[in-house]
Amino acid sequence: MSSIQRTKKIGLVDCNSFYVSCERLFNPKIRRKPVVVLSNNDGCIISRSNEAKALGIKMGEPYFKAKDIIVKNKVEVFSSNYSLYGDLSRRVMRTLKRFNTEIEVYSIDEAFIDLSNFPDSEVEKVGREIRETVLQWTGIPTSIGIAKTKTLSKVANHIAKKKQSGVTSLIGIENLDPILEKVEINDVWGVGRQLTKFYQKNGIYNAKQLKNKSNTWIKKCSNVLSSRTAMELRGVPCIDLETTQTKLVRFKEIMVIIQIQKLSTFQLQQTIVLRLLKLQSQYLRVYLGTAVVIKKQELCLQGYEMMMVGKIYSHQKKMKK
Ligand SMILES: [Mg+2]
Repeated sequence: MSSIQRTKKIGLVDCNSFYVSCERLFNPKIRRKPVVVLSNNDGCIISRSNEAKALGIKMGEPYFKAKDIIVKNKVEVFSSNYSLYGDLSRRVMRTLKRFNTEIEVYSIDEAFIDLSNFPDSEVEKVGREIRETVLQWTGIPTSIGIAKTKTLSKVANHIAKKKQSGVTSLIGIENLDPILEKVEINDVWGVGRQLTKFYQKNGIYNAKQLKNKSNTWIKKCSNVLSSRTAMELRGVPCIDLETTQTKLVRFKEIMVIIQIQKLSTFQLQQTIVLRLLKLQSQYLRVYLGTAVVIKKQELCLQGYEMMMVGKIYSHQKKMKK
């Protein structure tokens, strides 16, 4: 086997409209209908079937805002059932582990898998096999993107989502520029809202433009994390897979209630960062809302939830210095 065939190959497996897919498993009647799932206390739309997306219902949109479209188009609406989703998620991840690959469970419906042991020429076929197996064993449809780095596997996954086969491999494609040119900068993994604004101000609107910026410029104007993203877009792996062992130490997702009424956004960020430092965690799910209900250790807040991962990470690093 030549060394070229043994290049690093990362697959990103993402469950399609995961919560909706879970509901559909137990309710075949809604298979071809527009379906949405609502967040805790039915505040916002957090999962949409393709049919619901086609109606123009937005991700994260408050339910009351979308209600007209929902009623008019007889969209099926579900309250979220996290114990069901958690159970099905574990089944999906267990199935992935059967393929003898290193796996990083990235979120409830996403996992990175290391496919480097498979020859380049076979990796797309392997992806299709994995997808078929997950569908057969769990009933959950997935999309799989395969590339040399995690950041590129995310790009591949976006393309896979739109394909009938559900699998896209960028392995062996010499020039990725035409593909990266079509990826808007805010869709690049690790580029949040603030960074998007910053890049756009500096004339970077797509992934190709970021890829072609010099590392010196990126490091000087932004931070080390951003230069890792750029390197990864060039096909140089910089972000390792976090397997269960490594993750146990670093990953703790904890829910905390913070009284934020009197806090500015900046103060809120600082409060969250302090909590993270105390909990020695990089990740925190923040729920903002007007009312609090705690049931069986479950935190339910009216309003909307937001993930603040990348941003907090950089804040935390700054504060540690
Ligand atoms: Mg998904």
